[in-house]
Amino acid sequence: MRPSEIVKDIFIVGGPDITDGRDGCVYLMSLGELILIDTGAGWSVDKIINDVNILGFDCKNLSKILLTHCHIDHIGSAPEIKRRFGSKIYIHKLDAPPLENGDPILTAATWYQTTFPPTPVDVKFNLQEETLNIGDQKVTCIHTPGHTPGSISIYLDKDGKRILFGQDLHGPILKEFGSNLEDYGRSTKKLLDLDVDILCEGHFGIYKTKKEVKDYILSYRRQYGVE
Ligand SMILES: [Zn+2]
Ligand SMILES: [Zn+2]
Repeated sequence: MRPSEIVKDIFIVGGPDITDGRDGCVYLMSLGELILIDTGAGWSVDKIINDVNILGFDCKNLSKILLTHCHIDHIGSAPEIKRRFGSKIYIHKLDAPPLENGDPILTAATWYQTTFPPTPVDVKFNLQEETLNIGDQKVTCIHTPGHTPGSISIYLDKDGKRILFGQDLHGPILKEFGSNLEDYGRSTKKLLDLDVDILCEGHFGIYKTKKEVKDYILSYRRQYGVE
């Protein structure tokens, strides 16, 4: 697969079928400034940058990296992208320490037979819900713990559509990650209530109707027995 536009100004630029089988999906928003949502596992940084270039953008405008949670398949290239372009790293405060400490277990780096260097975080989300104003566009980051304590989901309303970036909504729910099933139930309920049109997911790609999004989230709630 090649990088492509999902809706106007929103693109997929990385993921298991695009850049590296180990990567979580990498999304790009062009809202006057360029914003990445997650960064893949770390091996494909040049490919991701190339994909951003192919779409006609200049990576020096990559101002922000929003990380949905602290796992290596999502954060791996963040230090290098920050180093090259000065992008600021955003993550929820509860998932920040694994990045700051380069924790091999909590970043799941060990799982991927790699390491993650201790990396300073620029902005820590602290509230249930925080809205970033980027140009005229509001981008809302909601705390959705479950898979990890500091998982966030990101949504925006654009051209009549509500678009949600919900990485690793499929879990897994594992004690070693600090996962919490009750939190997972509450968080996925919150996301269902958002009634989104498009889900940009972390590993399985993009769900493009309200029904597909609901069915996707409900199938995992059922699987984990939180219905
Ligand atoms: Zn994860
Ligand atoms: Zn993942």
